[in-house]
Amino acid sequence: MHDDRNLVEARLKRVLDERIRPAVYPESVPLEVAVWHAPGEPVPVAEGLSAVPEPIAVGDRWGAPWGTSWFTVTGTVPAEWAGRSVEAILDLGFDENMPGFQCEGLVYRPDGTPVKGLNPRNQWIRVGAPVEGGEEVRLHIEAASNPVILDYHPFLPTTLGDKETAGTEPQYRLARMDLAVFDEAVWQLVIDLEVLGELMRELPVEGARRWEILRAVERALDAVDLQDVNGTAAAAREHLAGVLSTPAEPSAHRISAVGHAHIDSAWLWPLRETVRKVARTTSNMTALLEDEPDFVFAMSQAQQWAWVKEHRPEVWARVTKAVAAGRFVPTGGMWVESDTNMPGSEAMARQFVHGKRFFLDEFGIENDEVWLPDTFGFAAGLPQIIKAAGSKRLLTQKISWSQTNKFPHHTFLWEGIDGTRIFTHFPPVDTYNCSMKGSEIAHAARNFKDKGVARHSLAPTGWGDGGGGTTREMVAKAARLRDLEGSATVTWETPADFFAKAEAEYPNPPVWVGELYLELHRATLTSQAKTKQGNRRSESLLREAELWAATAAVRAGHPYPYEQLDRIWKTVLLHQFHDILPGSSIAWVHREAERTYAAVAEELDGVIDAAQRALAGDPASGGQLVFNSAPHARHGVAAGGAAGPVADSATDLRPRQGGGYVLDNGLLRVEIDEHGLVRSAYDLAAERESVAPGKAANLLQIHPDFPNMWDAWDVDEFYRNTVTDLVDADEVAPGDEPGSVRVVRSFGRSKVVQSLSLSGRRLDISTEVDWHETEKFLKLAFPLDVHAERYASESQYGHAHRATHTNTSWEAAKFEACNHRFVHMEEPGWGVALVNDSTYGHDVTRTVRASDSGTTTTLRVSLLRAPRFPDPETDQGVHRFRHALVPGATIGDAVREGYFINLPERRVPGDAEVAPLVTLDNDAVVVTAVKLADDGSGDVIVRFHEAHGGRAKAKLTAGFPVTGASATDLLERPIAQPRLEGDTISLTLRPFELVTLRLTR
Ligand SMILES: [Zn+2]
Repeated sequence: MHDDRNLVEARLKRVLDERIRPAVYPESVPLEVAVWHAPGEPVPVAEGLSAVPEPIAVGDRWGAPWGTSWFTVTGTVPAEWAGRSVEAILDLGFDENMPGFQCEGLVYRPDGTPVKGLNPRNQWIRVGAPVEGGEEVRLHIEAASNPVILDYHPFLPTTLGDKETAGTEPQYRLARMDLAVFDEAVWQLVIDLEVLGELMRELPVEGARRWEILRAVERALDAVDLQDVNGTAAAAREHLAGVLSTPAEPSAHRISAVGHAHIDSAWLWPLRETVRKVARTTSNMTALLEDEPDFVFAMSQAQQWAWVKEHRPEVWARVTKAVAAGRFVPTGGMWVESDTNMPGSEAMARQFVHGKRFFLDEFGIENDEVWLPDTFGFAAGLPQIIKAAGSKRLLTQKISWSQTNKFPHHTFLWEGIDGTRIFTHFPPVDTYNCSMKGSEIAHAARNFKDKGVARHSLAPTGWGDGGGGTTREMVAKAARLRDLEGSATVTWETPADFFAKAEAEYPNPPVWVGELYLELHRATLTSQAKTKQGNRRSESLLREAELWAATAAVRAGHPYPYEQLDRIWKTVLLHQFHDILPGSSIAWVHREAERTYAAVAEELDGVIDAAQRALAGDPASGGQLVFNSAPHARHGVAAGGAAGPVADSATDLRPRQGGGYVLDNGLLRVEIDEHGLVRSAYDLAAERESVAPGKAANLLQIHPDFPNMWDAWDVDEFYRNTVTDLVDADEVAPGDEPGSVRVVRSFGRSKVVQSLSLSGRRLDISTEVDWHETEKFLKLAFPLDVHAERYASESQYGHAHRATHTNTSWEAAKFEACNHRFVHMEEPGWGVALVNDSTYGHDVTRTVRASDSGTTTTLRVSLLRAPRFPDPETDQGVHRFRHALVPGATIGDAVREGYFINLPERRVPGDAEVAPLVTLDNDAVVVTAVKLADDGSGDVIVRFHEAHGGRAKAKLTAGFPVTGASATDLLERPIAQPRLEGDTISLTLRPFELVTLRLTR
């Protein structure tokens, strides 16, 4: 037989596009349309409904960027439509390719009850099925004219990303506002033909199934009268019934479809718009659940649930009803789908505390799975946190975005730094926006790496990023794919049901040890420096606020600010969302974040100050107390205590031979040359030089930085090919502070002022940059005389190692990586650390010197970038960073100095020494939180972990009478009973083990 595939496939496409799809709505009448444009920000629903609208015609332009327009549509169902299905078609001017990235609407009845959201893939509102004829229709649309930021030519700089710069030019043209007859037989024929046409193209040409479908499609098309599609659709479907009813092969891949809408809590829209996006999507999904008995929808991010509850009570009522029926399910158990590289230990833990607690409080539901489909890589500290939160499974598909290496498993155990293993699934469909296309289903089955031992995978199904969710078309396709020859099978299931099956069929999955590094989006560790500083600063302030408020509550009966801390934590957690903390949102989001962090800092400073004053005794005593919030004693003040100040040892500053200055405090001798570069950092105790011979540390380097795509997200490896060393100084002179050297440089349109000084074994470097570059990357380099295979950088509740070499493509791909407070490298017996107060990105490279065959290991911290998308002004302006080089540092020194630089001492007038609430007798065991229990019982919660990567014995002693103690999970629920001897508990910790204790007073 002749091969006529191309002919039939082309025929199918044209007849579907030009005849069958248009026949879904065979008759229509226009609606009357009027509009009221809200003058500023969105208004309450009642105000939008009661505003007096003015007429507007289809074809008219509407919608200033970020505006809100309330449309009123009215009409009467024609009497002759009696007995037929009728829908309102409301097209605000949609581009069908951009659901969630353009204008959107939420439709209300006149009484204010929400009906459904409107987006390019969901433009219909049911009027009646069937109608009686003569019904009056009146609907209101709260339409958001969100501008298109990510256009067909992507990543072009735009001023549309902030209401303050976006202008007033209307963005959309009203397209269609009709009442229309909905012909369900034609709609079903469309779905039949789409499913079969898409499946057919994925099947092997050599197989009979492909040809059986082709011939059936041909017969169906023959049966369609192109002049009377509506009259012949049912007959055409009969020709397809046979090929649609043959069952799947027994070995077919099994897909658990989970209805989903990945909604970015902020990204190319501000936070306030996400509140509305969530309302639109949840309205659609509760409506779809009512229509489709098999469908199941899962929503993550407790914050988004809380927004619905707070802002849209009428939608919330529908959501809670669907939750009670078990079909609208909370998933994930985190406050938001956060970044997991940068959040600090406690913040990462609190994502789970606040997320899980919300679902427990609202619904009594605790789920086991962590849902992070879109997060940009996963720190190796996370498995232990997941377990400590009472969860045990993880889902993400983001690692499929890696540019270099293909991850070897789709279902596996992920092992973290402490040895905790978490059952993890990467959906092989490689998207969190599955739309049930044949190509997606076939890709999932083909791509699945664990074939032969496992058969199940998950497909998050529905429009996401900007919301939208699952459509009735996706549900209809899934129904046909339930058990269909040639296809993977598709069943609607909850994430929990999927994981139960996946675990049961795969008792010994492979193991992946260490971080799940995303080989893409590496610049998210640096972009939008002020957002990152705001996060780090807020995390430190929250630690201080909880510590001193708890201490003041126990010691002085000072009221503990439960609600205030709860609210601030949630604000900080929200801003760790995977497009806010990573710096990949529009200007509006980051401008607001900066203000929010400032308000958070002010409020927390108030909490800390009030608690410390309550503890400090008589302010008129003339005395002064130094409060030490760090987990290690400092200047004679106990960790978590306060005592009188001790004078620091003085630094000798003298001119250096050949120019520049020498700083010497008896522990460290640092030579700064006439260019302001550090030529030597000599550890006087170890008699050991830190800086590689012939090299200079504190070297600022600038690179061109124009990635191939995703400007704020990506730095491409070729950035390193071109570099300029900033060695010319405008000024190198003694600074205002005694024992400090000031260095001033100008370059491009920017200026840097640095201050270098000594503090104990630390060379402190504060850097102020007035940054006005474009598409540049600024690094601060430390070429060190260290020979090491690997180095450590701090992660949550410990640190992770990475190679200093690039033997394999896996190591080479990690050319920019994440640190928290420190990076540390060592030879046996001697190491060096670099600590920071707010930077996360770094790179480490190594070379071998010709002069002495020694190894130079160069550590560079990433200070600033200047991408132009999505925020065209990213990082412009003044920034302040603090770093410190710590020669001779052990890993323990790195941990300690990392805390010190982030938790400066606070001085308060008073005379009452403050004893710590808890003390630990082993420096390797580090306290990350001291607080009162969230349940208001007054119990003291202490969280700590082993920080050196070894085994540790420690005695914890409470500084107050303790009547009982329990070990708890992160949600402060008891899991074990430690032995209490008086006020002391003896402990043995595994490497990096995290422990939470509840101490009853
Ligand atoms: Zn996302």
